[in-house]
Amino acid sequence: MILSVDIGGTTCKLGVFNNDNTLKDKWQIATNILDEGKHILPDIYQSFLNYFDEIEEDISVCSGIGIGVPGPVDFNTGILNGAINLGWSDKKSVAEEFEKLSGISAIVDNDANIAALGEQAHGAGNNADDVVLVTLGTGVGGGVVSERKLMHGSNGSAGEIGHIKVDHNERFLCNCGLRGCLETVASATGMKNLAVYHYTHHFEETIISDIISDGTVNAKDIVEAAKENDALAIRVLEDVSQYIGHALSSISAVINPKVFIIGGGVSQAGDFLLNRIEAEYRPNTFSPAAEGTLIKIAELGNDAGIYGAMELVKQYIEEN
Ligand SMILES: [Zn+2]
Repeated sequence: MILSVDIGGTTCKLGVFNNDNTLKDKWQIATNILDEGKHILPDIYQSFLNYFDEIEEDISVCSGIGIGVPGPVDFNTGILNGAINLGWSDKKSVAEEFEKLSGISAIVDNDANIAALGEQAHGAGNNADDVVLVTLGTGVGGGVVSERKLMHGSNGSAGEIGHIKVDHNERFLCNCGLRGCLETVASATGMKNLAVYHYTHHFEETIISDIISDGTVNAKDIVEAAKENDALAIRVLEDVSQYIGHALSSISAVINPKVFIIGGGVSQAGDFLLNRIEAEYRPNTFSPAAEGTLIKIAELGNDAGIYGAMELVKQYIEEN
């Protein structure tokens, strides 16, 4: 069996996989970030121990654990360079610490990366060799699987799709300190940025004017207004699609993936978004790189991480 865990700021998602890589069980526990997050790894190990007690098996039959963490990871050493959400402010040897605790070999990667690997191997990627995941949530995240392997890059920053510059007017400041990143115009925050911008610059009438004025408008409001043919909301979604489409064109010219997978909360706009992204992507992409490339909505939801973490362990076992 293989264990996997996707550690988040509020909950940790735990999975147990059979030897044929099918999911045997999954559950989640609360993340206790008190005392600088020192309880997190022991809590996870204890929860697995309880599970194995219940099924009357010994946890030592497990061949390894994959761990996803919300921060930058040196993949070769398993050292996480801080994760504020978890109370881990300094560098932390997550793999080594878990191994000491449990005696189970651990492999650690960033949560966006493991989600990409999960979707590639077990979700919308349909096991294609080359897959890119773009997650449109509060921010824009992503992960790149090339020839079945996660790309990390020389500083572990490969797949930081949210920081591709697409808004050359540099209207909005990004969390990274730069302006014009994809994240400023294609995340939930980005949609709000654009709604406010268009409301104050171009449009007067919209059914969501009240919530735009008072600043409470969110991505879901905008998607719902667009579905009711609200001109301002449609304009926002068209902008979002255009920026994403152009980012995907650039990525295609470098990586040439078979499948782009769009995940995260904003992807719940579904075909409405997908069709518009397609319409921007196809004519603007170097045609040999766009030929046969699919753009799909993610399929695994919150389970992408545990599938990807399991896949990491599987790959490690196959190679060693
Ligand atoms: Zn940025």
